[in-house]
Amino acid sequence: MRVLIASNIDSHAIERMEKEGLEVDVMPGLDEEELERIIENYDALVVRSSPKVTARIIDKAKKLKIIGRAGVGVDNIDVSYATQKGIVVVNAPGGNTVSTAELTIGMILAAARKIPQADKSVKEGRWERKKFVGKELRGKTIGIIGLGRIGYEVAKRARAFEMNVIAYDPYISEARAREVGVKVVDLDELVRNADIITVHVPKTKETENLIGEEEFEKMKEGVIVINCARGGIINEKALINALKSGKIYAAALDVYETEPPDFDSELFTFDNVVTTPHIGASTKEAQEIVGMIIAEDIVNMLHGYPVKNAVNLPSLSPEDFEFLMPYLKLAEKMGKIAAARLSGNFERVKITYRGKLAEKDTSYLSRAVLKGLLEYILGPNINLVSAPPIAKERGIEVEESKIERTDSYESIIEMEVLGRNGSIYIAGTSFGRDDYRVIRIDKYKVDFVPEGHYIISLHEDKPGVIGRVGTLFGRNGINIAGMIVGRHGNKPGGIQLMLLLVDDPPSDEVLEEMEKLDGILDATYICL
Ligand code: NAD
Repeated sequence: MRVLIASNIDSHAIERMEKEGLEVDVMPGLDEEELERIIENYDALVVRSSPKVTARIIDKAKKLKIIGRAGVGVDNIDVSYATQKGIVVVNAPGGNTVSTAELTIGMILAAARKIPQADKSVKEGRWERKKFVGKELRGKTIGIIGLGRIGYEVAKRARAFEMNVIAYDPYISEARAREVGVKVVDLDELVRNADIITVHVPKTKETENLIGEEEFEKMKEGVIVINCARGGIINEKALINALKSGKIYAAALDVYETEPPDFDSELFTFDNVVTTPHIGASTKEAQEIVGMIIAEDIVNMLHGYPVKNAVNLPSLSPEDFEFLMPYLKLAEKMGKIAAARLSGNFERVKITYRGKLAEKDTSYLSRAVLKGLLEYILGPNINLVSAPPIAKERGIEVEESKIERTDSYESIIEMEVLGRNGSIYIAGTSFGRDDYRVIRIDKYKVDFVPEGHYIISLHEDKPGVIGRVGTLFGRNGINIAGMIVGRHGNKPGGIQLMLLLVDDPPSDEVLEEMEKLDGILDATYICL
């Protein structure tokens, strides 16, 4: 498996991937043309905000399974085209939260105590102690707009400065705000009452120009305004006007409406405006965490596990990831068994999640079932991203239901697959990270770990059948490592299910011979 790193990322992330046996080529600064030329050789690609990963590049990327964005915004990646092509796109949300929160606090202090101006003055040979009288933070009200990851960390730190913290975030629960000692207010109240206003919302249609002329109008005299989120959330023109009016004590900006900004802008002429060049995430620690988050997901993906931070797949919390991992393997294997038994003829899939599983986001598992089913007909290039759109394209109906009650197991996946020539019911469960089992096939109770070479067969329950099968395999040099006979009912007779675990795959001839044996009705080989 080959990974191309097309931007600078932390060396620990590279070591992490190499340790897992991945071959990592580090080529920071690749431009799009070079990338397009070499991308066909790689299974995974890591970029930062450049180079652009366009549809043209994705078309050339025949082996590519995952694109990692070492950061948050994925504007430089054609995510919808990657999704169409079955490529997972992952990012690293949260990796730079604390660094950005710390910069925000630094900006508040710099603005309140005029640190950059004082520094400049001393370096220019002046000793102007009276000029740099600042403001204390203690007892002041800070208004945080957007109490997400960064806003929350800013709130925590502001409390340590003995500040009164209020926040505006219509999408956050009161409980979350209470946790950090924040009073939730509406925007109007925040803007009117805060001594320091800091924005931590994403840039959306709703938040663009969230702070404009009208809001500056309502603000207290001597307010400090901070933007370490995205340029344009605070309207720059309105800010300039407010600065000119003298209402604003100081502003501090890490981000701008265009980046790099127009350096001739009036914004840069005010002494009380502290500026930094979008460095919120620029710490060694943030780079290391971001790199590790991406490396983990690349390793997960290339080893066939779910990823944690996919942009085009549901995200999983670390706890759900642990819990769902064995079910994910199980779901795929159940799909494989069904497809093989129905010889690839299936039109409808009904999946039921029972027990604890019913409380979880199971969309990953349904994707895995489809992957297992479709692989039988379309080969191994199907993955968790491409499986649902391909199933839809092929007219396969998928029904998902959840039932919280189970009788005997903590959680069960039940699946019924219906096709032109028949149907199959399979159920499975898990007892922990590496222990997942199929517990029923149609009406037959079984209990096996679906890993290895299996032959599933229906036979008449009469003396001699099993012996004949053993003789056939022995004669062909195939060792039977395990056998399960899933008898339905207590009485002998009728049609029963046999599962053979063999050390080597049988040839088509051996399978055909098995189907011809007296008492054997059918035989399907499945590599699980
Ligand atoms: P987040 O998604 O964790 O939090 C955003 C919060 O904003 C959420 O709680 C959401 O409910 C809230 N929100 C959304 N729309 C809102 C609205 N109209 N009014 C009020 N609240 C609203 O994001 P985060 O990781 O905390 O990032 C916050 C901002 O910081 C983003 O703009 C991000 O791009 C930026 N950021 C900047 C740097 C930097 O280098 N300066 C680094 C990282 C993140």
